Amino acid sequence: GGAGTASATRQVKLEKESELRIEVANDTPLRLRLLNGTAEIFGTELPPQIWLTFPPHFKFAVFTWYGATIEMDGSTETDYTADETPMVSYVNVHAVLDGRRNQAKASPESSQGPRVIVVGPTDSGKSTLSRMLLSWAAKQGWKPTFVDLDIGQGSITAPGCIAATPIELPIDPVEGISLEMPLVYFYGHTTPSQNVDLYKALVKELAQILERQFTGNAESRASGMVINTMGWIEGVGYELLLHAIDTFNANVVLVLGQEKLFSMLRDVLKSKPNVDVLKLQKSGGVVSRSSKFRQKSRSYRIREYFYGIANDLSPHSNIANFSDLFVYRIGGGPQAPRSALPIGADPVANPLRVAPVNIDRDLLHVVLAVSYAQEPDQIVSSNIAGFIYITDIDLQRRKITYLSPTAGELPSKYLVMGTLTWLET
Ligand code: ATP
Repeated sequence: GGAGTASATRQVKLEKESELRIEVANDTPLRLRLLNGTAEIFGTELPPQIWLTFPPHFKFAVFTWYGATIEMDGSTETDYTADETPMVSYVNVHAVLDGRRNQAKASPESSQGPRVIVVGPTDSGKSTLSRMLLSWAAKQGWKPTFVDLDIGQGSITAPGCIAATPIELPIDPVEGISLEMPLVYFYGHTTPSQNVDLYKALVKELAQILERQFTGNAESRASGMVINTMGWIEGVGYELLLHAIDTFNANVVLVLGQEKLFSMLRDVLKSKPNVDVLKLQKSGGVVSRSSKFRQKSRSYRIREYFYGIANDLSPHSNIANFSDLFVYRIGGGPQAPRSALPIGADPVANPLRVAPVNIDRDLLHVVLAVSYAQEPDQIVSSNIAGFIYITDIDLQRRKITYLSPTAGELPSKYLVMGTLTWLET
């Protein structure tokens, strides 16, 4: 139960192996600092004495291995101390992974470190566990690759994408993952059922590029990867998990919070003796999020892309002629549900078909990806440079106004459209 909306400065003493779970208030930020002892937020150590500011709605925990005193300033939706956490089991997994990284590094021509994939239902703490494993590894000097396959609530870039990035430092508790040149593929929708074949194709592209990068980089190869997945684990969702495990050659599968998924994966992966399937307890601190909240946080992620987490970025408004930009769509737009089609009919003739899109008012408020493709037929296999947001379409003057993180020309004239939209507020 939560203590609720206290608002004065106050101190909380944490015993060893306990955590302070916090949901920041809905309208005001919270300041917090470590007064004494040692503590971490999802694997990243807190600097002593320094105030950190957490934005409204932020949900997190301050965990201590040996005891700490925390000071808070501002109001919270809830804050309470928990002394039952799965942290010891999580750090034990880290220790095993660390051993494997050392082994990989010490082997003659430096072999492959652990490839960990984190799976489980929605709100089981997958992103949080991924983050801890990455931060603990980075703290020890490894450079693990973070792969995020969650198109709904991605933590590397805007929603609708799958992405990868090397983690060289423990992840910042407020800012999240630093955005230095992530490798991003644009799927364009927030559920994989929109175009399952496209989702699979992009996962394959991403895996191939990473494989190539690992060949030339012994350090990141030995560090391995941590792959975060979607919470969709039934039917096609399950099929996509197996596809990801296979495509990335994952050798450690961490199953959070679901016995059934664990036993299914253990049985199906029995034939692969080099793959370990481990069951881990879900933390009692993981906060369930409603679909409305998810929708909101998606919109917030897009806002963050253009404006920064603390409004510290200023995007540019640009104007282009209709004839300057080429918009494409993959798979020919939203498809009819299978149930609406005659038996045996294929919902999409070719799910990977790249088709030009006419520029009209339908593009208003759409988020488009800027592809690195040189030719339209390379769009599916190309990663993206970033996004633009269409703010006005002038049919008479045939001009498009769009928001872009930078001024000047786009890195490419090929833009990709999905079903991702945003209403700037
Ligand atoms: P998704 O369904 O989007 O894949 P997930 O399984 O990845 O969700 P997380 O994003 O890790 O779940 O966790 C859900 C929320 O709970 C996040 O806001 C996270 O910060 C919060 N959270 C996780 N662990 C704790 C904890 N121990 N104490 C407080 N909050 C927590």
